[in-house]
Amino acid sequence: MEWTDERLERYSRHIILQDVGVEGQEKIANAKVLIIGAGGLGAPVALYLAAAGVGTIGIVDADVVDRSNLQRQVIHTTPEIGVAKVLSAKAKMQAINPDVTINTYQEMLVSANILDILAPYDFVVDGTDNFAAKFLINDACVLANKTYSHGGILRFSGQTMSIKPKQSACYACVFDRPPPANAVPTCSTAGILGAVAGMLGTIQATEILKLIIGIGEPLFDRLLSFEAKSMMFRSVKLKRNPKCRVCGENGISEIKDYEQPVCDMKK
Ligand code: ZN
Repeated sequence: MEWTDERLERYSRHIILQDVGVEGQEKIANAKVLIIGAGGLGAPVALYLAAAGVGTIGIVDADVVDRSNLQRQVIHTTPEIGVAKVLSAKAKMQAINPDVTINTYQEMLVSANILDILAPYDFVVDGTDNFAAKFLINDACVLANKTYSHGGILRFSGQTMSIKPKQSACYACVFDRPPPANAVPTCSTAGILGAVAGMLGTIQATEILKLIIGIGEPLFDRLLSFEAKSMMFRSVKLKRNPKCRVCGENGISEIKDYEQPVCDMKK
C-alpha cells in the first residue's frame, strides 16, 4: 500500500501505537476477513474492520433489512428497510473507508457453498444466531484451516472464543454438537438487549485485529463470557479434545449441513 499523507492521517492513531505502527497497519491493509452475518454482531464487526482499514472484507447474509433489526443492527438505517443487508452494510463500510474492498454474498451459507466462500479469506468471524450455522462454520473452518472468532449472544449475555484449527479447542471440542431443535431459544424468541450485541461484536473485531497484527493473547483455548445485568465477565480455560468429532484424530473429512436451517441470521 502506498503511504499517502491522507492514509497516514487516517490511520495515525493506529500507527502511533507501539504494537501496531506502519508495519501493523500494512498487515491490516493486506488482510482478508470474511464476516458471516450482517446482523447484531456483524454490524459492529463490519464497521470497525472497515474503519481499521482491513484491505478486503467479505460479508455474507441472505436477508433484507427488517424494522425489527434496527434496535441493534446499527449498520442499517430506517430508509433501508427492505434492502439487502449486505448492500446496506457495504454502503456504510465504503462511506467510512474507501480504501477497503468489500465483497458481498447475498446467499444462505450451506455445506454446498461454504468452502468456496471461505477460500480467499485469512480470518472468519461467526456472527450468526443459530447452532446449525455455528457448527457448520466450525466444521468448514477446521477443514479449510481458517482461524476464526466464534460469537453468541442472548438476552443480556454474550460469549466468544477464537479458534486456530487443530491447535486450539474448536467449538465442537467444547459443545460437541447442536442441541435438539427448539430446545434452545434464539434472539427472535428470547430477545436481546441491543447494546449487548455491540459489546460482543466489538470484542470480536478487536480479537480479529489482534490476530491480524499478531499481538497480545488471543482467545485461543479460552471462552470469554459476560452477563450485562451484573456486568460480570469471566474467562474459562478450555482444552482441545483429542477425540473431538470435528478436529480430533478421526475428525471430519467433509462438510454436511446440520438439521436446523441456517438461513436465519436475524439476531
Ligand atoms: Zn475440536
